[in-house]
Amino acid sequence: MTQTAQTKTPNISFEFFPPQNLEASFRLWDTVRALSPLDPTFVSVTYGAGGTTRELTHDAVATIHKNYGLNMAAHLTCVSATREETLAIANSYAEVGVTEIVALRGDPPKGSDGFAPHPGGFNNSIELIEALADTGKFRLRVGAYPEKHPEARDTAADVEFLKRKIDAGAHSAITQFFFEADTFFRFRDACVKAGIDAPIIPGILPIENWKGTRNFARRCGTSVPQWLDDAFENATAQGQEGLLSTAQCTELCSDLLEGGVEDLHFYTLNKPALTRDVCHALGVTPKASLENVA
Ligand code: FAD
Repeated sequence: MTQTAQTKTPNISFEFFPPQNLEASFRLWDTVRALSPLDPTFVSVTYGAGGTTRELTHDAVATIHKNYGLNMAAHLTCVSATREETLAIANSYAEVGVTEIVALRGDPPKGSDGFAPHPGGFNNSIELIEALADTGKFRLRVGAYPEKHPEARDTAADVEFLKRKIDAGAHSAITQFFFEADTFFRFRDACVKAGIDAPIIPGILPIENWKGTRNFARRCGTSVPQWLDDAFENATAQGQEGLLSTAQCTELCSDLLEGGVEDLHFYTLNKPALTRDVCHALGVTPKASLENVA
């Protein structure tokens, strides 16, 4: 891609997930090694649905922070924990030098029927954000849904809820993934109209595997354009799925940049190659270090 006069090199950030076994640990480590030279603004580590990765998330966040000195944002949810337990987890992040939290209501454990607050726990994300903001220890980021959260009544109610999250003390929002830049722009306009002036950072999902991504999109309420489905069907038949993934993701990002976006958050799935190639195409190049040239 050649950069147009209007586009600037974006600020980038990455999402990782905590490893569940030794092989996955090596994969995460390789991913961090490959992407950290791109100088991300922050990197985040998810918290398993139902609060299932409490210790693993903490260990991954602390280890990456200690070894790479990256600015870490730990995901934290309200699920399956009392208020005291949740705040103790947050405090354990502050103790190892982590200053950012992605504060979420969270997905319930697999097999359960929707979110039910833990007795003694936070009832929703707003209560969590308020309590974390009261500690004065963290910059808080929250989730946002350009095509509305599946539980929201309508888009207006969803945007209004996001405004309440920002007013409760959040610094910025990271969106659910989407496939067309206009989806993001419509949402950004609705946020501005509702009086939200905090940064809304687009969440970008590089497509590692089209069938898996399409199924995931349907579960999240992300609409799947027919043209994209057709393009992947053709590319797969010609053994060119990887090439299309890089082109599609780079084009989506450059459309966003041309529309004034300055920050991009990549859902890496702990696989560095596609994210790295897209970043390079956008002009985000490795910062040389002694380790790189030795
Ligand atoms: P909220 O914003 O609190 O709620 C979602 C929507 O539901 C609201 O926008 C609103 O429309 C409606 N709603 C909820 N409560 C009310 C209420 N009391 N009154 C009116 N409307 C209400 N899940 C994990 O388990 N672990 C993770 O690490 C994780 N990381 C994520 C990172 C990002 C960037 C995003 C976008 C999502 C992530 N999720 C994660 C998924 C998230 O937990 C789910 O989407 C969850 O169902 C909603 O969490 P939230 O904090 O975004 O919800």
